[in-house]
Amino acid sequence: MSIANNLAEIKASLPPHVTLVAVSKTKPVADLMEAYNAGQRIFGENKVQEMVAKWEEMPKDIQWHMIGHVQTNKVKYMAPFVSLIHGVDSLKLLIEINRQAARYRKVINCLLQVHIAEEETKFGLSEEELNALLTSEEFKQMQNIRITGLMGMATFTDDNEQVKKEFSRLKTIFDRLSEEPATPNLQPATLSMGMSGDYPLAIACGSTMVRIGSSIFGSR
Ligand SMILES: *Cc1c(COP(=O)(O)O)cnc(C)c1O
Repeated sequence: MSIANNLAEIKASLPPHVTLVAVSKTKPVADLMEAYNAGQRIFGENKVQEMVAKWEEMPKDIQWHMIGHVQTNKVKYMAPFVSLIHGVDSLKLLIEINRQAARYRKVINCLLQVHIAEEETKFGLSEEELNALLTSEEFKQMQNIRITGLMGMATFTDDNEQVKKEFSRLKTIFDRLSEEPATPNLQPATLSMGMSGDYPLAIACGSTMVRIGSSIFGSR
């Protein structure tokens, strides 16, 4: 199957309210261009340098999403062009994104990553940390970031019940957040959950944005 075929099949299976992020990490620009020529405009990368290199080389109407864990000292390289940062999991990182966005007189959209998996290795905020961040004075003062939703990764397991439980928990947290009065820097509309192995389940649990790599571009 070609990349264009894979893409068409996945897009046909997504409900209209679900946005597809084509996760192109480690893949060469030629592969991304195949997806681009098939109409894909949103790409996800997990390393800042790699995303910058691809951004420089590729058409400028692409929306670049950073889906990986971000080191504070790398924010400045993507601040000029990144369209959504999925993996924000500390106040410290958010402060730096806000600072770099201010340098460019822009607002950078961010998702807060919540830890929902059983695995210790996955990044993300606990529910308590999420609440502490959102109610902090520092956050309230930030004018150059906008929290547009939440992101999470389920445990890597064949146990569908486990995965469903984790996705449902994130959806509950998202719904609670969505009930808060919106402010300029808190406008939750996006729930980013679901990858190649679990996106149908994620959508059934309320996902509005799926991050799919290997099912489009092949294994890495
Ligand atoms: C790599 C990656 C994906 C895509 O994974 P696939 O299994 O290839 O679809 C999604 N989200 C994050 C955060 C990733 O790092």
